[in-house]
Amino acid sequence: MTDTMTRDRVGQFTDPSGRTFGEDGTLNIAYEALDRHVEDGHGTEIAMIWLGKDDTRQEISYSDLSAMASRFANVLTSHGCAPGDSLFALMGRVPELYATALGALKAGAVFTPLFSAFGPEPIRTRMEIGDAKVLVTTASIYNRKIAPWRDDLPSLKLVLILGDEAPDGCVALAPAMAAAAPEFTVAKTAPEDPALIHFTSGTTGKPKGAVHVHGAVAYHAFSGRHALDLNPGTIYWCTADPGWVTGTSYGIIAPLVNRVTMIVDEAEFDLERWYGIVEREAVQVWYSAPTAIRMMMRAGAEAAKPFDFSALRFLASVGEPLNPEAVIWSEQVFGQPFHDNWWQTETGGIMIANCPGETVKPGSMGKPLPGITAGIVDRTDAGLRELPDGEIGELALRPGWPSMMRTYLHEQARYDKCFVDGRYLSGDLAMRDAEGYFWFVGRADDLIKTSGHLIGPFEVESALIEHEAVAEAGVIGLPDETAGEVVKAYVTLNPGFGSSRALEREIRGHARKKLGPAVAPREIVFRTTLPKTRSGKIMRRLLKARELGLPEGDISTLETDET
Ligand code: ATP
Ligand code: MG
Repeated sequence: MTDTMTRDRVGQFTDPSGRTFGEDGTLNIAYEALDRHVEDGHGTEIAMIWLGKDDTRQEISYSDLSAMASRFANVLTSHGCAPGDSLFALMGRVPELYATALGALKAGAVFTPLFSAFGPEPIRTRMEIGDAKVLVTTASIYNRKIAPWRDDLPSLKLVLILGDEAPDGCVALAPAMAAAAPEFTVAKTAPEDPALIHFTSGTTGKPKGAVHVHGAVAYHAFSGRHALDLNPGTIYWCTADPGWVTGTSYGIIAPLVNRVTMIVDEAEFDLERWYGIVEREAVQVWYSAPTAIRMMMRAGAEAAKPFDFSALRFLASVGEPLNPEAVIWSEQVFGQPFHDNWWQTETGGIMIANCPGETVKPGSMGKPLPGITAGIVDRTDAGLRELPDGEIGELALRPGWPSMMRTYLHEQARYDKCFVDGRYLSGDLAMRDAEGYFWFVGRADDLIKTSGHLIGPFEVESALIEHEAVAEAGVIGLPDETAGEVVKAYVTLNPGFGSSRALEREIRGHARKKLGPAVAPREIVFRTTLPKTRSGKIMRRLLKARELGLPEGDISTLETDET
């Protein structure tokens, strides 16, 4: 058996374990994630351990989760919801969110999760773009963020409210679920039927709605096992919120199709709580993001000492470049490194990864997964030019894997522009070394050109955080008459360090030594926070716009901030 996924004919996939998806020409993510396991006799296995903010703990079996999802699907159909209808979810990480996602998929609805902390405007624009027909949310979110403009969105026919009571014009979900049957015949969706819409993080501009199909599940199954070591019974914790693609692809679908037990924590990042969960729940595979890892580093290795991490067998990170310093630190603290992997909302699944058992080169994203063809290219007037190893260019992928987006919602032209000469262009710059490892350089928009040098902000940021005082860094290029551009850095400091001119000079000196004078920042400013998206990405374009007094652009996903 080969180690790549084979696609026999449209809609039917066999992955390396021999599992075939879509045998009868239909394919449904929720069926593969739940019903199939129950039918195979695994219903009593635990699908989810839910940890509430108030320290409640609830174990939900595959049978229970499947029944919850079926009840939800019955509620939908009893209210006239038909396959293809657009459903939005807006709530915290509570069990109902997972029942909503999977129930919507069972019913053939197109599921869009939004981050519950979004303000009314970002919610409204996304629901307008997505032609929302159904919304599932809480009374408090509804009253504050939806009710004031609900009448302006005529497509919205049904609002389901968690709990026993609902505001006027809405339906209470708890009694409706209790009255609904726990069995549901899963909709016979075709592999190319839309299943999910995910909005991109909005790091570089206005978020795009990437449309994903049911056929994606075959790639989630494969990549979950190959890149994250997910197997039946694995205790797995993905810390991402389903409001972002990671929290759905690898926080719902990949773990469930691989029959793992997934940890869902309702609370936000808290160092002691997180370490306590890893220890108490004996987490084996942990998937997180650089922003969280840097917060752990900021608290120091001492804070980790009291905890037992011996159950951990694989750690992975995604969403932003993982600084080499963070890889080395995690190896010291957890006995193994965080394994960086790269992908996007658009790709729907992991494309490039440091997979289990492979040598990690700190600072590298790893290698393309089996079946994924990645290259480094240059856009020229005559088309794409393939670049040799060692040269920096745009990271391009050969389309064809099942979880690739099928369009940007209502933006077909923008989607079409992503493809040149049969390649999907990612908008990220990278380099491949002679051993086939890929190294992230920066977003194409963030590249800095100074005195003839091309500088990726990641390289400079990674050098800066090697200094003991620096916790995080965001680097931009500013126009300069002689050099073209000059490098400017914004940094936050570790506890115990105060901002001073002397420290600024010292960090600049450190950067000059590491990077050379041409690449090192000319100026460093201290901040208590950096502007970040809710998915934890540093918004360099915002630092730059503010520096230059330009319009801030779309900041609907902005989370932390200090101007
Ligand atoms: P938008 O497209 O709206 O500007 P975004 O690109 O941040 O937002 P996502 O799809 O959530 O939206 O993020 C994908 C991007 O995140 C990648 O294109 C890349 O720039 C960055 N990224 C993800 N993983 C990594 C990684 N391991 N190393 C470096 N960058 C990464
Ligand atoms: Mg993007």
